[in-house]
Amino acid sequence: TPTGVPTPAPASDQPPVVIAHLFPDLLNLYGDGGNVRVLEQRLAWRGIPVEIRRVHYGDVADLAAADLVFLGGGPDREQKLASEKLAEMREELAAYVADDGPLLAICGGYQILGRQWLWGDELVPGLGIIDAETRRPGTSADRLTDNLALRSPLASHPVVGYENHAGRTYLGPSVEPLGAVASKAGHGNNEDDRADGVRFRNVVGTYSHGPLLSKNPEVADWLLARALERRARRAGVEPAPLVQLDDAVELAANAWMAEKLGV
Ligand code: GLN
Repeated sequence: TPTGVPTPAPASDQPPVVIAHLFPDLLNLYGDGGNVRVLEQRLAWRGIPVEIRRVHYGDVADLAAADLVFLGGGPDREQKLASEKLAEMREELAAYVADDGPLLAICGGYQILGRQWLWGDELVPGLGIIDAETRRPGTSADRLTDNLALRSPLASHPVVGYENHAGRTYLGPSVEPLGAVASKAGHGNNEDDRADGVRFRNVVGTYSHGPLLSKNPEVADWLLARALERRARRAGVEPAPLVQLDDAVELAANAWMAEKLGV
């Protein structure tokens, strides 16, 4: 067995944890879809059955059956196509969030959840599921493109990632950021707040792309714990605690990046 990879626990007969990956064909910048692979693998290592439902453009999503929902980021054209389909499923998604369904949304996917976002130079309506809005850049017209590290209540280690976005996101009073930007580099939501992302009920939004869950296993487990808690609540049983994994490899990658970022 390679170091850091626990021996799989015996397969359990419980129904699979259903992860809905919304529009992997449109929202998959910088390998955002890898986050779903991480969630899948972390359940498999624990012997918990998992089923990934990839909802492509034109497919109908059954969010009532979902235990965890993932939305990645995308270029403007793809983001617009995805947002039109998401608008059609707005009520189901809002109900899922109101029922404490865990949802991870990155960059473009995160922007769409707010009241408005920036499509090219145009401000377009979002789903209004979270109290946030994305605006045009102010004085500096540059994209915000950098590595960044956050201090987040969801993790004892810094949350490290990479941002590349034009829109600037501002949070309303009923939500919290995912974390404070702790690195000199990177901006997160905008140039003013030194904060990135959002936390609202069991929704996590962030501008951190690609390696988010692979280098931040605590965030992955926070989402999985919420998914398992909600499943247990819906089944009327006590949730089983999430077994600790050996995250030496993941945390070494996290520490390497945090050190580069001076955090
Ligand atoms: N199109 C959005 C922006 O540039 C989001 C891009 C992304 O997901 N990286 O603000």
